[in-house]
Amino acid sequence: MATSSKKWKASYDSNSKYNSNWEKTYSWLKRSSDGSEAAYCKLCRCTVAPRITSISNHEKSEKHRMKTPSKSQSQLITTITPRQSNDKVKAAELQLAVSNTHN
Ligand SMILES: [Zn+2]
Repeated sequence: MATSSKKWKASYDSNSKYNSNWEKTYSWLKRSSDGSEAAYCKLCRCTVAPRITSISNHEKSEKHRMKTPSKSQSQLITTITPRQSNDKVKAAELQLAVSNTHN
C-alpha cells in the first residue's frame, strides 16, 4: 500500500514576504510591528497582506483614500507665540530665602 500522495504540497506562497522597498513607493506603509511578514498601513491602522497587488489594491480602496491627505493642501503650521512671564516668579523666591540666618 503506497499512500504517498503529496496532498499537503507547498501551497505556501514564498513571494509573500515584506519588502522594505515598498515603503519608497508607499509612504504610508510599514512593516507590521509584531515581527511577522505582514505589512501595515499607518493611515488606516490595519494590516495589509505582504503582496504588491494587495498593497496597491489597498491604496486604491475608498477606505484608504479617505485617510490620505490630499497633496494639494500642504500642512499649515500655525505658529503660536508663547507669553513671557518668568520674571515675577524669581522675585518671590528671593524673599523666602532671607528668614534663616542662624549658624
Ligand atoms: Zn490604508
